[in-house]
Amino acid sequence: MDVVVVGAGIAGLSCARALTDGGARVRVVERGRVAGGRLASKRYDGRYADIGAAYFVADDPDFAALATSWQSRGLARPWTDTLRVFPGDEPTTGPVRWAAPGGLRSLAVDLAEGLDVHLSTPLDAVPDDADAVVLAMPGPQALRLSPPPGIAEAARAQTWQAVIAAVLTYPSRQWGELKGAFVNGHPDLATVFDDGDRRGDGAPVLVAHSTPALAAQHLEHPEAAGPILAAAVAEVLSLTDRPEVQVHRWTYAQPEPADVPYVAGGRVWLCGDAFGKPRVQTAWLSGRAVAQALLG
Ligand SMILES: Cc1cc2nc3c(=O)[nH]c(=O)nc-3n(C[C@H](O)[C@H](O)[C@H](O)COP(=O)(O)OP(=O)(O)OC[C@H]3O[C@@H](n4cnc5c(N)ncnc54)[C@H](O)[C@@H]3O)c2cc1C
Repeated sequence: MDVVVVGAGIAGLSCARALTDGGARVRVVERGRVAGGRLASKRYDGRYADIGAAYFVADDPDFAALATSWQSRGLARPWTDTLRVFPGDEPTTGPVRWAAPGGLRSLAVDLAEGLDVHLSTPLDAVPDDADAVVLAMPGPQALRLSPPPGIAEAARAQTWQAVIAAVLTYPSRQWGELKGAFVNGHPDLATVFDDGDRRGDGAPVLVAHSTPALAAQHLEHPEAAGPILAAAVAEVLSLTDRPEVQVHRWTYAQPEPADVPYVAGGRVWLCGDAFGKPRVQTAWLSGRAVAQALLG
């Protein structure tokens, strides 16, 4: 069986890995210069910061086994089960959040190892030279490839919100024990994470994620959201130093969850984090579920 997987985010890579392990011939095609998609680490002044997913949770046994494998090879580590909630600065305890010392994208690079991945290769149509084509990406991006009607309908049914991430580099660490925080009810700021702590290098770097409302206002010129996010972080954490600010726009950041693991229409399949709670683990499971269905 020849399969083309379009998208080298965690869903596409999980799908491609499972298909390859099952004996299929798989080509992965990715428009970006690097693999990972929203499992994203970008280099600023020689240091990687996690600008997409902030961490991952591994409560599925198979994904937990992968996390343990990453841990045994020094690629990932359990980071924290406690984050803060503002206003009020209360701690909230939940599942263990995992982080990656080399940046979360290093986990995508690990999954891509040994696969036939073609980077910097944007597709504008569903390839016709394969027995199956897996579109492992947000529905609105899949629509640009003019997929068959069943897939197009499912893709159109997805609802996505944008997020702008701001990487804030300070002269020094002013914030003590933070890990990260959910900021409730703020018009501009949704979360802020201590990138130096999660990466383990102690760098004075915070990553702030905007509310969908702020992102929607600044989709055309996301850099204008940078100072707004820096001011919001200063207000919430009582910081006085001015940071250097870099921003990244995620037009399709967060989907409304669907309750099926993927959709199929003829030889075309659509998977990703829209198929369940929008999380790294969901994307991995969705991609693998497509592979299992194809192999089955
Ligand atoms: C700001 C932010 C914060 C988040 N925080 C968390 C968190 O804390 N914990 C958590 O678990 N999850 C979090 N997530 C969600 C998590 O990042 C996603 O669930 C997961 O990475 C999605 O993976 P995916 O493979 O489904 O999609 P993507 O990562 O979006 O991968 C899709 C890939 O397809 C490629 N592609 C698209 N169109 C084409 C084309 N035409 N041709 C070729 N390639 C194409 C894209 O370039 C991309 O690489 C966050 C996401 C964002 C944006």
